[in-house]
Amino acid sequence: MSDCVFCRIANHQAPARVLFEDDHLMVFHDIAPRAPVHLLVIPKEHIPSLAEASREHLELLGRLLLGVQRAAREAGIAHAFRVVTNSGEGAGQSVFHLHFHVLGGRRMAWPPG
Ligand code: 5GP
Ligand code: ZN
Repeated sequence: MSDCVFCRIANHQAPARVLFEDDHLMVFHDIAPRAPVHLLVIPKEHIPSLAEASREHLELLGRLLLGVQRAAREAGIAHAFRVVTNSGEGAGQSVFHLHFHVLGGRRMAWPPG
């Protein structure tokens, strides 16, 4: 989708600080970090949100979670990190291309606001 900022990043049509990528996903630094480490794990395929994923994405969803794990490891926060996906505007989603936030490098409060 050409009007989707994460599709443009995934297609190398917009800049990002990329940690790693493969044929299925990309991991890059959030432009407005909420923690010392704040990475975003996205599928290259445009899926608007977790609510809109389906069984056809079963393997991709597993790849994304392993991508989260690798991101945490490579960023040095594997011992303590938080994974968040905001699904829907009311939950705080602002970019409507599925993504997992990976946050760490500071103490995390619970529950989130
Ligand atoms: P959401 O609010 O949808 O859960 O998360 C979207 C995230 O994407 C936000 O944390 C925001 O800072 C980040 N973001 C929005 N636009 C860009 C961009 O162009 N580049 C990068 N690297 N991050 C972005
Ligand atoms: Zn997209």
